[in-house]
Amino acid sequence: MNIIQIFKKYPDQKSCIDHLESVRWANGVTCPYCGSENNYPRTSDLRHHCNSCQKSFSVTIGTLFHDTRIPLQKWFLAISLILNAKKGISARQLARDLEVNKDTAWRMAMKIRESMKSDGELLTGVIEMDETYVGGKPRKAAKKDDDNNSGSPRGRGTKKTPVVGMVSRGGDVKAEKVEKSMLKSKDLNQLIRRSINPIGSVLVTDEYRGYSRVSKILKHYTVNHQFEYANGEIHTNTIESFWALLKRGIIGQFHKVSSKYLDKYIDEFCFRYNLRKENQELAYNSVIQRML
Ligand SMILES: [Zn+2]
Repeated sequence: MNIIQIFKKYPDQKSCIDHLESVRWANGVTCPYCGSENNYPRTSDLRHHCNSCQKSFSVTIGTLFHDTRIPLQKWFLAISLILNAKKGISARQLARDLEVNKDTAWRMAMKIRESMKSDGELLTGVIEMDETYVGGKPRKAAKKDDDNNSGSPRGRGTKKTPVVGMVSRGGDVKAEKVEKSMLKSKDLNQLIRRSINPIGSVLVTDEYRGYSRVSKILKHYTVNHQFEYANGEIHTNTIESFWALLKRGIIGQFHKVSSKYLDKYIDEFCFRYNLRKENQELAYNSVIQRML
């Protein structure tokens, strides 16, 4: 769904509520307080009244839209704008597009990102794994490449926040912020165990020693970046392209991303990447469902 389609399909609060109710209560309205299905049809204030517990409620109760004073159409537009922004969209930009203030836009975007968390499905197939370093305040010299800060060490010695990612070629990506102390083989192996189905999967990494005990879990190939970028199918180009996208987004749109919120931005970029082959409508509906 692009923003024109949203304007046409959901012109007002009522049409938005109709849509949310059809998704949340496809099999009939259920009271969120007592579970009763015995309630009056919607009243003029777009709420329901439960005949069992005598409470009134609207479709947004207990969801990520809960208690919002922002018209639902703006939420729908925000979802569309975030989904369609390949490199991410800043709170400032979102605020301009939605005609809300910047803090409101930021809070809306954070709620939407919350719906984009990984569902925990395991990766399979040929999987590339790598770590990168993001965050901190970019300097002027850092515009081109986040890793090329002069005066700040590159790669595994840097002060930035480490992020570990895995991507199944042709499939999904998973990435998360980790503590610097978690780049040891014990912790990386743990991460692999809860992210990858080892049966029938192979892992490709560089020669970082944190990956030295991966072959205990699944078949493991390494590429030596000192001598080559790829050895036939043995390469980590897919995860590196994802890092490039993530870093461009974070540098370009979010400027200073505090480590506290980094996970949410990563979730957003993973979610968009994982739905890259789906049509716009499916991606949009998936967010609405997750918000509810
Ligand atoms: Zn009730």
